[in-house]
Amino acid sequence: MNRLFSDLPTTIFEVMSLLARETGSINLGQGFPEDPGPEDIRRKAADAVLNGYNQYPPMMGLPDLRAAVSRHYARWHDVTFDPDREVMITSGATEAIAGALLALIEPGDEVVLFQPMYDAYLPLVKRAGGVPKLVRLQPPHWRFTEEMLAAAFTPKTRLVVLNNPLNPTATMVPREDLELLARFCEKFDAVAVCDEVWEHVVFDGHRHVPLIALPGMRERTVKIGSAGKIFALTGWKVGFVCAAPHLMKALSKAHQFLTFTTPPNLQTAVAYGLGKDDAFFDGMRAGLQRSRDRMVAGLTQIGLPPLPAEGTYFLNIDLQPLGLNVDDETFCKQLVHERGVALIPVSAFYAENPVTSVVRICFAKSDATLDAALERLSGLRS
Ligand code: GLN
Repeated sequence: MNRLFSDLPTTIFEVMSLLARETGSINLGQGFPEDPGPEDIRRKAADAVLNGYNQYPPMMGLPDLRAAVSRHYARWHDVTFDPDREVMITSGATEAIAGALLALIEPGDEVVLFQPMYDAYLPLVKRAGGVPKLVRLQPPHWRFTEEMLAAAFTPKTRLVVLNNPLNPTATMVPREDLELLARFCEKFDAVAVCDEVWEHVVFDGHRHVPLIALPGMRERTVKIGSAGKIFALTGWKVGFVCAAPHLMKALSKAHQFLTFTTPPNLQTAVAYGLGKDDAFFDGMRAGLQRSRDRMVAGLTQIGLPPLPAEGTYFLNIDLQPLGLNVDDETFCKQLVHERGVALIPVSAFYAENPVTSVVRICFAKSDATLDAALERLSGLRS
């Protein structure tokens, strides 16, 4: 067995979801919407299974979907990609990230990672032979500084992995910080792998700025997106990779032996979905923003005000300033057993020196579910 994987614990999302099921708790842990997702897009997928072609689609993805991804990013984020040479469809963003790491790292290459980080990154970097260089972010702002980057980048740096908007912190990297990171990538000749699956889930009129759109980054960035987050269909696992042809050459070779392709009916339905009018995307954001605001108000009212949240469908509570003297893991375990609410301890997103006072809450739920959870959480600070 490979030690790295055999020694790994089960992911915190699975652990908390299992605990939620066992205890009959309200699950605000693992991030998935309660809503079944847009009916017209699901119908497209069903229709494509019944009436469409169900054999292997092209390895790079259905031409219709690659064209739709290209049009979508031109329309929303002002970046243009050649659908034939710069866009690839993967079975979810996690496959895209795994493929990028396998394809772009040589053993011994250093990879800059920001903690808290999505729990898949570190084992994948290590399995690919990369040497992680960790930048530690902390509440309430979760921002990196020039000094932090200077300590992490070296002449051996090959890659930096950036998740923006950032899960679990619900923050967006400000433009000036993106510019700072771009300067480091250029100076050290590093490639940025950008996990931007939350690019559409941003609030308060913010617009996502992809790192690949910054001067000097077009040729050295791998941009990764996901239909699961855009359409609230997290089980579909349809990801998009956009990168310059010289990078795509290696990325496509990793993809061809990971999954090779992605179910054609889902690709057809996502191509249709990406073409929906602005009102659809604005409506999705508005609905989630309303849920966020409802949850922020409710949590504040019961004495658990969350940290500022600009994107993703998560909120975070820092227990320490609230005088709750308990670590996040203990807090989550107690909560699920004693109050019937499952959350995620943010320390699980750190590989070393974790912040242990923050818990993450998923608010992509119905008002009734959020209200029931608030009721169960009330009285924690008395
Ligand atoms: N992205 C989801 C989250 O952050 C979890 C995905 C998973 O469970 N693998 O909650």
